[in-house]
Amino acid sequence: MSSQALGEFELIRRCFASGFPIATDALVGVGDDCSIIRPPHGYDLAQSIDTQVADVHFPATAPARLIAQRALRCATSDLAAMGAAPQGFHLALTLPKADATWLDDFALGLRETAHALRMPLLGGDTTHGPALVISIGVQGWLPAGKGMTRSAARAGDDLWVTGPIGAAALALPQVLQNPASEKDLARAYYRPEIQLTLGQRLLNLAHACLDVSDGLLQDAAHIAQASLVDIRIDAGLVPTPVTADDERWTSCFTGGDDYQLLFTAPDARRDDILALNSIPGAACTRIGQCLTAAELTPQVQLEHQGQRLDINGNGYQHFR
Ligand code: ADP
Ligand code: MG
Repeated sequence: MSSQALGEFELIRRCFASGFPIATDALVGVGDDCSIIRPPHGYDLAQSIDTQVADVHFPATAPARLIAQRALRCATSDLAAMGAAPQGFHLALTLPKADATWLDDFALGLRETAHALRMPLLGGDTTHGPALVISIGVQGWLPAGKGMTRSAARAGDDLWVTGPIGAAALALPQVLQNPASEKDLARAYYRPEIQLTLGQRLLNLAHACLDVSDGLLQDAAHIAQASLVDIRIDAGLVPTPVTADDERWTSCFTGGDDYQLLFTAPDARRDDILALNSIPGAACTRIGQCLTAAELTPQVQLEHQGQRLDINGNGYQHFR
């Protein structure tokens, strides 16, 4: 059954002009040359952009609704990592064809997720091109001067994660085999928990923070290098979907796409941080420590039962 092909402006009107959360601070949204946002007094604007390419970041044959859900969730995770409250997003969409059925499904997934994350759609761009590419620019508000960065960890800090690590990587074989599956681990891949509430509540508790998008070890190294501290992780403390006797266990430390937060905080904050686990979806777990850097290049060391654990392969990089 062939589906209707849409023109550019019809497409925008049908899919992106309505049905999204309303931005109370947007004076102008979809439909004009720019969106116009009025900043609240005393806040900094946090901005990030994220691109997903078909068959690089997701299977091109996955259901459009799931592709949209995942793209907006992954992009919004950067706001959670800095502790920002969501303000809204812009969507740049490159499509090989403007198929009405596919686009309706995509818009449905995007709307559902925008409501779940409270992210108004502010505008975007729609173009024709050889592959499906989704770029999402997100923005949010941070109390002035309070944003959490990767460079704020201090020697002596505890290292924490906000939930299970490794599920999205373990889901990958299943997702590639059956891109339409939303069962079990595939759910973690398509609908990662985005810790927006937790991120904002960490603002006055945590030092450094980021979201685990490229693998626990690689992302921990980003904090270590930016903050000039060594990091020691106790592998046995990391919440993983499989246990140490499973051959897939080590891939939990290098696999990406979980979007949990990895953060450091002084040990005096342990009880305050554990109290945050009353937030739905939050499971803050202490997994290691920051130490004074022993060498010029800060190191991340993974240990298990007192032994150093050497794992082959790092996290994901597009260019090596
Ligand atoms: P311009 O030519 O000024 O760049 P466009 O014709 O590309 O504007 O887009 C018309 C309007 O539709 C703009 O307000 C733009 O923000 C919005 N828009 C275009 N594509 C999208 C999209 N994929 N998602 C949301 N808004 C979009
Ligand atoms: Mg214009």
